[in-house]
Amino acid sequence: MKAGVLYGNEDIRYEDIPMPEISDDEVLIRVKMTGICGSDIPRVLAGGAHYYPIVLGHEFSGEIAEVGTNVKGFEIGDRVSGAPLIPCMKCGDCENGNFSLCKNYTFVGSRLQGSFAEYVKLPAKNAIKFDKSVSFEQGAFFEPATVALHGIKCSDYKGGKDVAILGGGTIGLFTMQWAKIFGAKSITVFDISDSRLELAKKLGADYIVNPKKEELQNGKFNFVFETAGQPATMKNAFEIAANKASVCFIGTPHADITFTPREWENINRKEFRLTGSWMSYSAPFPGDEWELTSHYFGTGQLKFDDSLIFKKYPLSEINEAFKLFKDPSKVGGKIMICNQ
Ligand SMILES: [Zn+2]
Ligand SMILES: [Zn+2]
Repeated sequence: MKAGVLYGNEDIRYEDIPMPEISDDEVLIRVKMTGICGSDIPRVLAGGAHYYPIVLGHEFSGEIAEVGTNVKGFEIGDRVSGAPLIPCMKCGDCENGNFSLCKNYTFVGSRLQGSFAEYVKLPAKNAIKFDKSVSFEQGAFFEPATVALHGIKCSDYKGGKDVAILGGGTIGLFTMQWAKIFGAKSITVFDISDSRLELAKKLGADYIVNPKKEELQNGKFNFVFETAGQPATMKNAFEIAANKASVCFIGTPHADITFTPREWENINRKEFRLTGSWMSYSAPFPGDEWELTSHYFGTGQLKFDDSLIFKKYPLSEINEAFKLFKDPSKVGGKIMICNQ
């Protein structure tokens, strides 16, 4: 089969590799679409891969092509999305159902062969079926949608409150939609890109704020979700939180951050609760993050918009796709790698 094999920085070769061979508890998936994740960028551009050569790709959809002998509930041709985490299932965190926190995990597309290929194999419990009404493009957005929902779960989210989403990227826009599905009184999305704010509005945000042009509305929000991982948005979270708010950091930080005592003191004076969120798994594995994403994409309540996708490339041009990220400011949404 063909695959995009990473040999070193900016060196992904489209070449033949052996087909994966499945065990009794696995399924083989004919890959249709894979999104390039932010976490793939340093692996390709900055020497961040665990080893070489490797096939990356972990946000994917496809069709079942082969089913292991012990596997029940799947048929050839079923449409599935892949949950890429394979936790050890033995450590204390796994026993408590906190699979995202497992320290002995492995991961499809960073340690095991991923989906920048014609086929990928998965333990059957990592395959999530979805309805025919859900496109393969949407199927490749399950992972970011589940990451957003895990943040909602980590913050003990309740409806009937004012919600703020800092960052209108893929994760931010899904977090916004989950907050709405679960009954927000109002949702405000903050971003410095007007086009992302327009998309937020289209997908259901009640209010949009560009902090470069407008006031932040300090102290207003009962639930605050930080999804950009930027020092500015992390500090904004401390300002816009209401007294007794719940603040959740979903975005992965990329730079040092400093707070003045006045800024930090917000956490004391407002007695807000700050928590983080990591990946998208809960018990029973892989968690209702995945089941609910499949359900709400199926009903159409979790909306998808083509403008979430910036550009599509065939697998044979995967190297070109990654070169776009040498200037990330030019990438206005998800890049997809497609198989015919
Ligand atoms: Zn990812
Ligand atoms: Zn574990």
